[in-house]
Amino acid sequence: MHVYKFGGASIATPERMKALLPIILAARKPLVVVVSAMGKTTNALEELARAACADKGRARMLADTLEQEHLSYAQSLMSADGFVAAKAALDELFTELHWAVDDADGARFDYSYDQIVCVGELLSTRMFSLLLQESGIENEWVDIRHIIRTDETWREGRVDLPYSTMQARTQLHPILDAGKLVLTQGFIGATANNQSVTLGREGSDYTAALLASMLGADDLSIWKDVAGLRNADPRLFPDTVQIPNITYAEVIEMAYYGAQVIHPKTIKPLHNAGIPLYVKCFLDPAERGTVIHANETQIAYPPIIVWKREQVLLQVTTLDFSFITEDALSFIYDTFARLRLHVNMIQNAAISFIACLDNQPEKIAALIAALEPMYKVRRNENVSLMTVRHYTPEILFGLTMNRTILLEQKTRTTVQVVVM
Ligand code: ASP
Ligand code: MG
Repeated sequence: MHVYKFGGASIATPERMKALLPIILAARKPLVVVVSAMGKTTNALEELARAACADKGRARMLADTLEQEHLSYAQSLMSADGFVAAKAALDELFTELHWAVDDADGARFDYSYDQIVCVGELLSTRMFSLLLQESGIENEWVDIRHIIRTDETWREGRVDLPYSTMQARTQLHPILDAGKLVLTQGFIGATANNQSVTLGREGSDYTAALLASMLGADDLSIWKDVAGLRNADPRLFPDTVQIPNITYAEVIEMAYYGAQVIHPKTIKPLHNAGIPLYVKCFLDPAERGTVIHANETQIAYPPIIVWKREQVLLQVTTLDFSFITEDALSFIYDTFARLRLHVNMIQNAAISFIACLDNQPEKIAALIAALEPMYKVRRNENVSLMTVRHYTPEILFGLTMNRTILLEQKTRTTVQVVVM
């Protein structure tokens, strides 16, 4: 059993969606296909959700624009007959969307957001399913909200694994056993009261990983617009190399240091179930891509660089020259946690504590206000945090040449520098 996940970019246009057909035909079966919303639909729906709580007239206008876009997409995607079916399916979903807009209420924004934003995946998968059908690929469109159950943590639903696993097995195995492909949505689920919920932005990878582990898949393939993982962001560095093969442990480190590789929640279910993850390129399916696996054999990695920009370096110093003791540290750390300020790197010294974090001006102002009675806080803005795994002296020299190093930490495998 195999799971494929296609993201928004892979279905951003009707041409791209059609180009996925040969990939699906060539796939080993049985196959479960998880799809996210088309292109930037989720962003448009987020805006719609905000409008629905503030200005219903504007929200209806935005919904109409979205409907027109989906209709013209369907029109170029399908034959005339196919379009009739697609239009009926879209009509139904847009009617639901209008209800959700009417019902939206700023007093429970996160709940309203989920009822609206979930429509993106329902729309894209409906169209995809009809396209497959028209192309002779037998498939069953499954509403994942009947499978993935969560609590009522709106916009970040926490999945009830035992219930969802049972549903996944009882609902999907019969379809697969009948030789049909399962086509379903990522990113969404429902509560025990049948209210829609989303799992957090970019959550489709996570859904695909959950389904793969619940169904005991042989593997999961995530189809992206890039050819697998590279050792640095090619938009920032000229000569990056592809990483053909990498462990989950390494990927989770990369994600921790800020690399935007795979949604971090994706890794755990796959790692725990020992399921390999292939990162493949839908623009070039023959390209081997990257395989991520649990196997802890020695892999010779190239230096892996994660460059986080727009960082702030804070230096918290005691006013009265007293040591930064464990008590003081726990007070300072607690203040960070209370304000939900995630720290990317820390260092202690005798009378000061240094932290590097993403620039979040309001939260940092609140932090400084909370610490000020006892500490003096200095800051450097607009600094970068560079993390290099498997570093060499040459790489480090190249990265820091012509820059001022404000802070540096090394372990055997990892070096982190904060630079201006
Ligand atoms: N459509 C959702 C988003 O854009 C989920 C996903 O793409 O994974 O965040
Ligand atoms: Mg996406």
